[in-house]
Amino acid sequence: MDPAAIRVDVTDSFRRQLGECRPISRSDRDSTPKYEIRIARRLFEDGRDDRWRDTVRHEVAHAYVLKTVGSDVAPHGPEWKDAARRAGADPVARCEGDDVVDAAYVLACPNGCFEHGYVQRSKRIKNPWQYTCDECGTHPISYDVTDRPDDPEAGTCYVASIPWQTQDDKDDPDDTRNTARYLLTCPNGCTAWSYQRRTKRIKNPWLYSCPECDATLLSCDIDDRPINLESGRCHVASIPWQEPRIVHACPNGCFNVGFGQHTKESRQPDRYRCEECGARTVAYPADDQPETLTPGTNYIE
Ligand SMILES: [Zn+2]
Ligand SMILES: [Zn+2]
Ligand SMILES: [Zn+2]
Ligand SMILES: [Zn+2]
Repeated sequence: MDPAAIRVDVTDSFRRQLGECRPISRSDRDSTPKYEIRIARRLFEDGRDDRWRDTVRHEVAHAYVLKTVGSDVAPHGPEWKDAARRAGADPVARCEGDDVVDAAYVLACPNGCFEHGYVQRSKRIKNPWQYTCDECGTHPISYDVTDRPDDPEAGTCYVASIPWQTQDDKDDPDDTRNTARYLLTCPNGCTAWSYQRRTKRIKNPWLYSCPECDATLLSCDIDDRPINLESGRCHVASIPWQEPRIVHACPNGCFNVGFGQHTKESRQPDRYRCEECGARTVAYPADDQPETLTPGTNYIE
């Protein structure tokens, strides 16, 4: 594609959108460029070069499809994906409608037929098993944009902050209610799940948020009244912590997750790498964060 055919502008006029590509109208006949790409200014302001580069490449791929195939194809269909790969852009369309946005979640066919980005935890993201892929009929999967599952099971929700993965999980996470001993619940009472065992969710309720109102969940014994209890805390009497005690994190600040007790990641943080920046991860006590973090260091004990 001839670079002179493309004009690139930086704009302040996008609210959530990151980029746009459109043909330049015929009345503008004299102008050499045939396509105009606009990129949101805020992409240049957060010091993340990879994001504006990816957005420019994403839009260049749209220009290429407009030129070679025309506008009568799905905006992020196979033609665009192919062009995006060749332009070096991430072929996951982080879009709402036709727009590229800062998506946090992805709904995808596990067989690779489609991938769509979402800004919010929509119904599709929360309950992927209720939908089917138009192309192959498989139930899609959902996940956090930064955390694609390696070997996904169709119809599973892998979004870390959603307190279920499957329909069974959602309806009846752990056997029947009359023998349940623990509760994972929204502090506003929208949703609650009962458990017989002290699962990871019961032990670390702050990792999850209510699918209805987005409040951070809490856990407690089955006879407690959650409405009086503080959110994001573990109120189970037999668990010796209420808040995270151990943090597993990227030394460059890309992520940090708190747990009540050691996980395999926090025991040997040097064995894991940050998915975003590739640094070896670190672990430290939640109440005693070191001032400087050396990659691959375990600051506990
Ligand atoms: Zn697009
Ligand atoms: Zn499919
Ligand atoms: Zn709620
Ligand atoms: Zn990182």
